Formats: sequence, C-alpha cells, structure tokens
Amino acid sequence: MSAENDATPIIINGKKSSQKIRDWVKIEIIKLRESYNFIPGLAVILVGEDPASKIYVNNKEKQSLEVGMNSWKYRLPAESSEKKIIDQIHKLNSDDLVDGILVQLPLPEKSSASERLIISEINPDKDVDGLHIINAGKLVSGENGLFPATPSGCLHLLREYFSDLSGKKALVIGRSNLVGKPIANMLLNQNCTVTMAHSKTKNLINECRQADIIVAAIGIPEFIKSDWLKKESIIIDVGINRIENSNSSKSHLVGDVDYQGAIKICKAITPVPGGVGPMTIASLLLNTLKAACVRRNLEPPIFDFTS
Ligand code: NAD
Repeated sequence: MSAENDATPIIINGKKSSQKIRDWVKIEIIKLRESYNFIPGLAVILVGEDPASKIYVNNKEKQSLEVGMNSWKYRLPAESSEKKIIDQIHKLNSDDLVDGILVQLPLPEKSSASERLIISEINPDKDVDGLHIINAGKLVSGENGLFPATPSGCLHLLREYFSDLSGKKALVIGRSNLVGKPIANMLLNQNCTVTMAHSKTKNLINECRQADIIVAAIGIPEFIKSDWLKKESIIIDVGINRIENSNSSKSHLVGDVDYQGAIKICKAITPVPGGVGPMTIASLLLNTLKAACVRRNLEPPIFDFTS
C-alpha cells in the first residue's frame, strides 16, 4: 500500500496552460502577418457524420479562427472512396495557402479507406497531426518535425510544471501510434528512463509502483488504482471515458486513473476533464504555426513553457 502524500497535490491545469498557448499563438500570428504578410491556415477533412468527430472538428475550426488562423473544413460522405479522400488531400498538398492538413480519425466504420494509406498521402511538411511515417521516424530519431498533438500537450504540461524531467522513471501505459508511442519517445528525448506497458504487460502494478511519472493512455475508466502508485509520483491521465450516471440520463467523464484516490498519493495529476484534453488543440495550433514558418524558410517562434 502506498503512503499518502505529505503536501497538497498539484492539480495540473490544462485549461489555463492551453489558454496561455493560444494567447501566444495569436500574438505570433499578428507578427507574421505584419512582417511577412501571410496567415497560417489549417484544413480539416471530416469523413462521415460521427457526432463526436463533428464536435472535435468544429472545436478545431473555432479555436483556429480565434487565434487568427485561416481554417477550412471539408466534409466528405462516410462512403467516400479512398481515392476521393486522397484526391482531396492532394488538392490541399498543392494549395499554398494551406499549412496544415488533418484528417479526423477514426474514419467511419463503413469506410473502406485505409487510414494508414490516407495519412501517407499528406505532405509531411503539412502533417500537423504528426502521424505521417516521416514525422514518426523523426520523433524516434530525435530530429525536429511535426509530432502528434495529444502527446505534445502532455509534454508541454510536464515541462511547464516540472522543467527538468531528466533521469525520471516514466511509465507509459498504452502503445497507440496516436498517444503511447509518441509520448514514450518524447520522454526518452527528455532523458527519462522509459518503460512502455500495454495489454500484454505482466505485473503492471509493479511497474506503476516504480514510476516517477505515469502517462495513462488506455481507454478504461479508472483502471489505474491509487494503491498502485508510488508516493509523490506525477500522473498524466490521457484517458477520456464517458460514464452514464445511474440515477439520471446525464453522463460524466472520467480518466484512466482513480483520481480521488490518486490525489492522496501523488505529487501532481491532470484532472479529467480539464487536464490533457484542452492541450490537444493548443498543440495542433502550435504545429500549424510551426509548419507555416518552416514551409516559408522562416525560423519558427518557440513557445516558452516556463513563462
Ligand atoms: P487505443 O485504444 O489505440 O490504445 C489503448 C492502449 O491501451 C493499447 O495500446 C493497449 O495495449 C492498452 N491497454 C488496453 N488494455 C490494457 C490493460 N489492461 N493494461 C495495460 N494496457 C492496456 O487508444 P488511444 O487512442 O491511445 O487512446 C487512449 C485513451 O486516451 C482513450 O481514452 C482516448 O479517448 C484518450 N485520448 C484522449 C485524447 C485527448 O485529447 N485527451 C486524445 C487521444 C486519445
């Protein structure tokens, strides 16, 4: 059983951090417009009518416009062929006004298109979701590139609250291309000693008990129990799980970690909602700003996490 923490835990505030990033991006866009007469632009392709995907895409559009970016949304029917989606990508690849291209995933279940193939057709310099194999390779090699937004958001939070991660034992639970693998590589690039766990990991509890940092990206509500945690550990909870309330028709969100138990043990934790979630679009805007500068051979401005 883990001992309780000595001090009040830090509740890592993703809403506040993401607002800081968006305010900064807005100022940088004004500077770019005034100095170089262009505005970065993000194009999002939505295939099908999935309600959650529509909300995500609308939020991306809204926040892009709020920071002064150009924003374009392309809606294709769920039954669109792979060729039709790829044709749209090719048009955006050759459109000079477009700096970032994102295909909202997952594609609808009835779609016959391959997500892997679709992503591979995006120009890697405009791949602001960081899922193209070239950008994935750059991340693994420790080179500069465009990296996935949610893990970038996790890293922003860790670096803002705990500037030096060097030498910390980090456990990443989940090995998706979207979250687990990229955050593991990002933490490795920050000189953490990284362990990756997944559904086939034996004795996960033991791994958790040794970790200074845990990034949970599993998708199972409150899967990580508080008595698995090391005292004073840092918990980044990526999970977003919707739970139906038993006594009403409403629902609420929980993460992959037992939050109420964990706050008695850990040094810091991201709440769900309000932790990692808001950081995803903020990181996407940072990526689009970066892509816009790199494409024009301009030095991209760097956001200072410590400010
Ligand atoms: P995924 O389904 O692709 O991957 C889940 C991973 O969890 C797998 O690698 C699997 O090996 C691992 N896993 C499953 N059962 C396990 C077990 N019993 N023990 C250990 N590992 C286990 O999911 P994903 O896309 O990586 O997303 C993970 C969670 O993060 C989901 O809840 C998702 O909604 C959330 N998410 C949040 C954001 C955000 O903006 N905050 C973005 C993306 C994903």
